[in-house]
Amino acid sequence: MRTRLSFLMICAAISVVITPICPCAQDPAAPREPILVRVAVAKGADSVKIFIAGNFKIIDYLSKSVILEEKYLSETDLTATETGFKLDGKELNASAISVEPVGGSRVYINGRIFRGEIRVFKDGNKLTVVNAVDIEEYLYGVMRNEVSTWWPMESLKAQAIAARTYALNQINESKAKDYDVTADVGSQVYGGIFSEKWRTNRAVDETRDKVLTYDGAVFPAFFHATCGGSTFDAAYLWNIDLPPLKGVKCRWCRKSPHFNWEKWLSVTETEEKLAAAGYSVGDIIGFETTKRDPFSARILELKIKGDKGESVILAKDFRRIIGADIVRSTNFKVTLVGEYVAFEGLGWGHGVGMCQWGAYYMSRAGKNASEILEFYYPGSKITDYKDAR
Ligand SMILES: [Zn+2]
Repeated sequence: MRTRLSFLMICAAISVVITPICPCAQDPAAPREPILVRVAVAKGADSVKIFIAGNFKIIDYLSKSVILEEKYLSETDLTATETGFKLDGKELNASAISVEPVGGSRVYINGRIFRGEIRVFKDGNKLTVVNAVDIEEYLYGVMRNEVSTWWPMESLKAQAIAARTYALNQINESKAKDYDVTADVGSQVYGGIFSEKWRTNRAVDETRDKVLTYDGAVFPAFFHATCGGSTFDAAYLWNIDLPPLKGVKCRWCRKSPHFNWEKWLSVTETEEKLAAAGYSVGDIIGFETTKRDPFSARILELKIKGDKGESVILAKDFRRIIGADIVRSTNFKVTLVGEYVAFEGLGWGHGVGMCQWGAYYMSRAGKNASEILEFYYPGSKITDYKDAR
């Protein structure tokens, strides 16, 4: 009885804030059409390893006719051929196939289990493998890779809503492509069923179908690990000019383990990386910041000075070329120290949208998911996806 009472009290408290975010406030049996996210789990591969623990069908993706139906598939290579695909010694004549598990069987691709359906497309003799999965199940496989499962539930719920919004925006933007998102850091890291954890799944369930909108439409609700004091205007990075993504001052992430950072790289390695990307200046003799965002203090553009010339480079390109794990954000100082280039900076990530460690400390200070999202995406609203454009 005690447990039951406290559960109801928590539900009541939550539903005051974001109705009907709590599962007890909506009809849990209410069905809806699946919203499929098409995740590229392999791209440009010569072959993939596939294992199916149970009944399955292989369907010609275009004609929808069944071309193979079996009870089990031991691990084998799937490769492309002139006329289609080769699987377990069998030729499958189709330009694209769909692998459909039957009766709850599981499909493993390169050792990872995925919910939903697997589609395989070929480009010459290379394969692209796409997992088409409902957005809620996709989020189960994403959350653990974005945040820690031990974080307070309100920060996990804020993350689930932001990630759902980002994915839905990607679906809207990718209609002409074979997939909406990749399974790596290019989108959101997606690991399938092995990445799922109980608390992060619960945060997804408790925010089911909730997305952020601005002016009635979903938008690319970016997020990053730690902003380092200010979030960044998306207009500088991707030409996206939207009020919720203009940047805010954040005092919440000061205790983040990623607030300050310092990295060293040899001058030779720095020169090699820059030269390989077309920025050859001879021996590097120094750097100069030529443009800085006055709001967030991030560098926009810098000059690389060498004994054979100088080159101006966008800070976002500089970060990508040197390595996003070395230059962890574009809010940095760079100096030459003997044979080394020293980078010192604030924050980790591109800096746009929600600061995840800031969200963590906000939830520790008693802020709920709705307050966290309002703070990091000013002017946005939490809406049911059905009411969003
Ligand atoms: Zn922050």
